Amino acid sequence: MMQNDVVVVGGGISGLSLAYYCVKAGLKTTLLEKNDTTGGSFASHQYHANGKKFWLELGAHTCYSSYQNLLDIVEESGIMNTIIPREKVPFSLYIDGKVKSIVSQLNIPELLFAAPNLFKLKKTGQSVRSYYSKIVGEKNYNEVISHFFNAVPSQPTDDFPADMMFKSREKRKDVLKNYTFTHGLQSVAKVIAATNGLNIFTSREVSSIEYVDGRYIIRGGDDGGAYSAKTLVLATPSAVSASLLRDINPDIATHLGQLKAAEVDSVGVIVQKANISLKPVAALISPNDIFYSVVSRDTVADENFRGFTFHFKPGLDDKTKRARITEVLGVSMSKIEHTEAKINTVPTLRLGHHQWLDRMESMLAAKKNLLLTGNYFGGMAIEDCVSRSKSEFARLKG
Ligand SMILES: Cc1cc2nc3c(=O)[nH]c(=O)nc-3n(C[C@H](O)[C@H](O)[C@H](O)COP(=O)(O)OP(=O)(O)OC[C@H]3O[C@@H](n4cnc5c(N)ncnc54)[C@H](O)[C@@H]3O)c2cc1C
Repeated sequence: MMQNDVVVVGGGISGLSLAYYCVKAGLKTTLLEKNDTTGGSFASHQYHANGKKFWLELGAHTCYSSYQNLLDIVEESGIMNTIIPREKVPFSLYIDGKVKSIVSQLNIPELLFAAPNLFKLKKTGQSVRSYYSKIVGEKNYNEVISHFFNAVPSQPTDDFPADMMFKSREKRKDVLKNYTFTHGLQSVAKVIAATNGLNIFTSREVSSIEYVDGRYIIRGGDDGGAYSAKTLVLATPSAVSASLLRDINPDIATHLGQLKAAEVDSVGVIVQKANISLKPVAALISPNDIFYSVVSRDTVADENFRGFTFHFKPGLDDKTKRARITEVLGVSMSKIEHTEAKINTVPTLRLGHHQWLDRMESMLAAKKNLLLTGNYFGGMAIEDCVSRSKSEFARLKG
């Protein structure tokens, strides 16, 4: 059985960043990922056709200058020179078959009347609806702004804690305000996965964990492989972590089990540039549609192709999704050059999450050899994931 200091389960940015901190500290570290590639919601699909290359994000798409912990890893890994800007194309609404600007749909008098509340109200203890409907006005919130918020985690966000949706963080002045990478965000996952000394095993779905004589025995994968570790890191969605801990830490498993998450059915389509007339957009939000957003690759224009990822509500059949894709893009199915699908998992956060988190931290305080990271702690942005991994690593070292 392979002996390790640390085994990390889950190869999204949370697991990768924690594995990175461990391996850099000289710990023998192995990461096990269910899929055949690392990255999780960092899913940049690489398309090759007739000598032409194109990538399309099926999950996360934008990083910011405020992502300081992520940038530290990017810098140390030597890929700062692959950071590229995103073109300034608009985030637009799609209403009654037409692309419309956000401003054109806002009630400006209502907005002006409500806006001073921005300086009076605090987000703490407020839901997204209760806070933002006072900042932009009830009607603006219901008809326009709420749909943009819903598009962020691809689920209804009325009841999300307002202070966990968008956070203000200190920015790095030497980095573009928002950016991606030459080959998409998954470049970050790939460079971390290639860190010297880090053992990565993909296509290894961990199915059981035992705790024997002070060590964790982690099992999974078709070959039934087993990995032994002094410290266990779970970087999987909360429901998976709960089920893996059920026998060895029932209290923590039960606490994790209180959280909910949404599955996002993401479908990316690639079209020859000449075959589509839709004006360039960063994203389309269509209120009350069967998708939460269409995120486009127009932010990094390509000479041959355009790409669009539809983040659909779960449970739709292929025919329904295809029909809506062709309708919105205004192209027939025969003009769609390539389609790629991915299921992403995003947490459903609720008021009271801070209390949930406090309780979780006090339960973990007694378990220095069990680290939990993911996008369901301080927030779901990429930087929240890396920050969580950094603080869990500090707990291990401290
Ligand atoms: C559509 C979408 C768009 C987004 N856009 C942005 C954005 O632009 N900017 C931003 O900051 N954030 C964005 N986010 C949020 C951010 O990308 C995610 O919160 C973050 O990438 C999650 O990382 P993670 O490692 O915690 O989870 P995940 O990426 O979900 O990784 C978890 C990993 O665990 C693996 N796994 C699960 N079960 C097992 C098992 N039993 N054994 C082994 N492995 C297992 C999974 O395969 C997966 O790879 C977006 C999210 C989505 C879904």
